[in-house]
Amino acid sequence: MTERHAIIIGGGVTGLSTAYHLKRLGYGEVTLFEKDGIGAGSSSRAAGISTGLLWTETGVLARKTALRRFREMSRELDGYTFHNEHGCLGLFSPELWPGREALLPLYDAFDVPYQVLSAAEIRRRWPALNPPSDHLGVLDPLGGYSEPPEYLAALTRRVLQLGVRLIEGATVDELVLAGDRVTGVATSRGVVTADAVVVANYAWILPLLASAGIALPAKTFVHQRYVTRPMTVPFVAPPVNADPFGGYVRPAEGNRILIGAETPDRDDMKVKQFGFRLDEITDDPAVLPAVLERFGDFVPALEGVEWESRKVGLLSFSMDGEPILGPFGKVAGLFVGVCFHSGGFSYNPASGYYLAEFVANGRTSIDLGAFSPDRFGAAETADYLASTVPQRNAARRRH
Ligand SMILES: Cc1cc2nc3c(=O)[nH]c(=O)nc-3n(C[C@H](O)[C@H](O)[C@H](O)COP(=O)(O)OP(=O)(O)OC[C@H]3O[C@@H](n4cnc5c(N)ncnc54)[C@H](O)[C@@H]3O)c2cc1C
Repeated sequence: MTERHAIIIGGGVTGLSTAYHLKRLGYGEVTLFEKDGIGAGSSSRAAGISTGLLWTETGVLARKTALRRFREMSRELDGYTFHNEHGCLGLFSPELWPGREALLPLYDAFDVPYQVLSAAEIRRRWPALNPPSDHLGVLDPLGGYSEPPEYLAALTRRVLQLGVRLIEGATVDELVLAGDRVTGVATSRGVVTADAVVVANYAWILPLLASAGIALPAKTFVHQRYVTRPMTVPFVAPPVNADPFGGYVRPAEGNRILIGAETPDRDDMKVKQFGFRLDEITDDPAVLPAVLERFGDFVPALEGVEWESRKVGLLSFSMDGEPILGPFGKVAGLFVGVCFHSGGFSYNPASGYYLAEFVANGRTSIDLGAFSPDRFGAAETADYLASTVPQRNAARRRH
């Protein structure tokens, strides 16, 4: 009997993780097409911060899986470490606190651990952090961060060992359909047939799905993060999602500090061609001074530091703020994983696992109906795609 063949489009963390899990589930042949090189999309630009303290039942359950797998992969993959030494901290001002407090029963219901910390307790545990006295923290002891380049390199080595056919420098131009079934893809190297096709090309998803007559309400937004030169004194703290300051901060490899921020006034960016590359995005030089101004008192170590690098990429949001993951009711054999808001890195061990379950078994071990690509109506999707949305009006969903 010939083996089943799955094609994955996109060599970021979502595509690689799907390939890894398909092989681990014993699926037959797996081919991954990447138009540039592995990590050319947002994955290599991510801050790599991960928390399980999300906003919805499905998100919380999926992240539980993701965080467990980050820890497992930290043991399994040579050269990759999941930094869980201090957990992951969310910081809340008095204005933002009620929104988070309302979510605590959700975490209790699903046995997701957390600790509410006063500003004084945060200062006591991590003297490098100095939150305003009226702020509260929620510590996720299972959260943490990864260095994305380390993770990408280690996962790539592993999928190659598992026998995935990884083809870089090959653009998938179109999905090929026969009636209501996908039968393969048309690439820059010719047509390749498959039993299943997984679309994991993130910011470039709309033109690819359009080739099969499918539209999803997805928007992409510019996002940026910066890393200091090595510091003389180590920055000892958990990664902090600091919404009151419009950004996040974490220790980084080699005694450095990483800080990131969104650009609320920037309109969504419409990616129309596969030839578009993220290094074409123009950075706003005002972002770093502004974020430093906001973070200054909270992280005193940032005063006067020298900056070594900056990474700019795209975040992908759906109309309702939740990921889009699963099969399409109207096109058999076609699967998608996209719109992970600012948390696609964190989702990847789970998103890849669930996509692999869909492809290999036709169903997932948890109910992912809330992430279904079929949950949006055609008219609302068309209106949303025709609109221009500033980032501040997209759901605020961090990591
Ligand atoms: C500055 C920044 C900081 C971030 N920080 C975090 C964080 O701390 N935590 C977190 O969880 N998330 C974070 N994110 C979000 C995270 O990076 C993304 O959600 C995640 O990387 C998406 O992974 P992906 O594999 O789905 O997409 P990508 O990594 O973008 O991969 C898609 C790939 O598809 C390829 N491709 C596109 N079209 C085609 C085609 N037609 N044929 C073949 N290949 C194609 C692209 O070249 C690309 O490599 C951050 C993002 C940015 C920009």
